[in-house]
Amino acid sequence: MKKIIIIGGGIAGLSAGIFAQKAGFDSVIIEQHAIIGGECTGWDRKGFHIDGCIHWLTGTNPETDLYKLWVETGALENTEVYQPDFFSIVEHEGQTIWLHRDLDKTKNHLLEISPDDHEQIEELMNYTERFFSFQIPCRKPFDLMNISDKIKLGMSMKSVGPVMKDLGKITIGEYVERFNHPVIKEALKSGVVETYSAYILPFTLATFISGNGGRPIGGSKAMAQRMEDKYLNLGGNAEMRWEVTEILIEEGIAKGVLLADGSKVYGDYIVPACDAHITLQKLLKGKYTDKKFEEKYANQKAYPLFSCIYASFGVDADLSAYPADFAFQTIPFSFEDGRKDQISIKHYCYEPSFAPKGKSILIAYNHANYDWWKEKRNNMDDYKAEKVRLANDIIERMETRFPELKGKIALLDMATPVTYERYCGAYRGAWMSFGITPEGKNLNHDGRIKGIKNLYMAGQWLMPSGGLPTALVTGKWAIQRICHAEKINTFA
Ligand SMILES: Cc1cc2nc3c(=O)[nH]c(=O)nc-3n(C[C@H](O)[C@H](O)[C@H](O)COP(=O)(O)OP(=O)(O)OC[C@H]3O[C@@H](n4cnc5c(N)ncnc54)[C@H](O)[C@@H]3O)c2cc1C
Repeated sequence: MKKIIIIGGGIAGLSAGIFAQKAGFDSVIIEQHAIIGGECTGWDRKGFHIDGCIHWLTGTNPETDLYKLWVETGALENTEVYQPDFFSIVEHEGQTIWLHRDLDKTKNHLLEISPDDHEQIEELMNYTERFFSFQIPCRKPFDLMNISDKIKLGMSMKSVGPVMKDLGKITIGEYVERFNHPVIKEALKSGVVETYSAYILPFTLATFISGNGGRPIGGSKAMAQRMEDKYLNLGGNAEMRWEVTEILIEEGIAKGVLLADGSKVYGDYIVPACDAHITLQKLLKGKYTDKKFEEKYANQKAYPLFSCIYASFGVDADLSAYPADFAFQTIPFSFEDGRKDQISIKHYCYEPSFAPKGKSILIAYNHANYDWWKEKRNNMDDYKAEKVRLANDIIERMETRFPELKGKIALLDMATPVTYERYCGAYRGAWMSFGITPEGKNLNHDGRIKGIKNLYMAGQWLMPSGGLPTALVTGKWAIQRICHAEKINTFA
């Protein structure tokens, strides 16, 4: 039985492990931390559970191929999914705009707010509807598709192709300028990234509205643990607290890995399922150039990366009656080198185990600048003081917006881009891979590194920004490529 060594126990590593076992290989997942899951995680503080990841999980609609894959890997097996009613509720300039899960409700609401935007609203809803039938391809990697697979893929893109072509030339920020109403503009930008290609907006709305972007009950950590259980039940072997420091290459063939304690583990195939930058620069010592990655690392405008501030608060009140996702305007407060006047918050009252009875967990989050926080952390005292200062400003603004919560909100924890870099090894603290922009090209990577045989990368960095589904799919695809090399009949 041939052996596959998988580096990293995030969702990509777990997916690779599960499919390696299913295909009859002997496999081991090597993870540097004590718990599995990578960025798909959660942690406990003072009686509260902080979910550190899933805001929405693409693939929660049972009609989709992705859902079937989540079930097959244990992630959504026997798992209820919470489908929020609202994609977002945005309060701005004294008006409230909500984007509901019901397309007609959203459309009528927007028309009522701004009859002048009639044409733009109709167009956006039409684009959104077109994306309902769009599915992220997950059966086979593109490089293993035959003509008939490619024709099927082309057919499935028929309704969205023209939208992607048109809106692929401009950014979301430029697209929303077509609307007249200032608060609608603001609401449409919330929850998405302004510099991304404009078709990401109807795509995201469609994912949510078609019930394909819910949250698994139990949260992110529990989902990763279900995948770990699936892997172990299939006979897999997960080694925790083992850090890989080098991939061993002999005469152009990947043979094994060197661990931080100096020991070596040998196998027939290596699947690095950790951050791609770690694989290329640390584990392969920068000896192998990969043009696709180099181009992306060098051009941040065309291939933007985003990280975040993730501030968690324990609230001594039950917030069930409040909207679960809410963005509101406040008096400005200092944020990095500038000022901010908008705060996005979410609570998890649909998860009773996340907070003691009668209390709630509240998360405030925002895009954050990696370089700024990295520099701040050069002086640990300054870094800690800044986190407390920012948390206090946010608490004060939340108490102003909800006076009944005065004195009841306490900081539990704050993660910054540097936290994600330190904990997960995420390149520039990024929470997802390279964004899709009008200038960006070739965002898919086949996981092979020129000059190395028997090595197939997996992980979110092989596809454009898409989070967990991309990790899941690329883990499976790495094993399909190995099956292809071994002439084993691969699973569809
Ligand atoms: C705050 C936040 C919110 C998010 N929200 C969403 C969301 O709502 N929806 C969504 O789809 N996605 C979301 N994401 C993105 C999602 O979490 C990631 O896309 C996904 O988890 C990446 O999985 P991965 O397996 O590719 O990589 P990772 O999760 O980074 O896993 C890589 C693993 O490799 C390990 N590793 C690294 N180096 C080594 C080494 N040398 N030796 C051994 N092990 C090593 C790491 O410890 C880690 O466990 C969010 C991310 C963050 C941070």
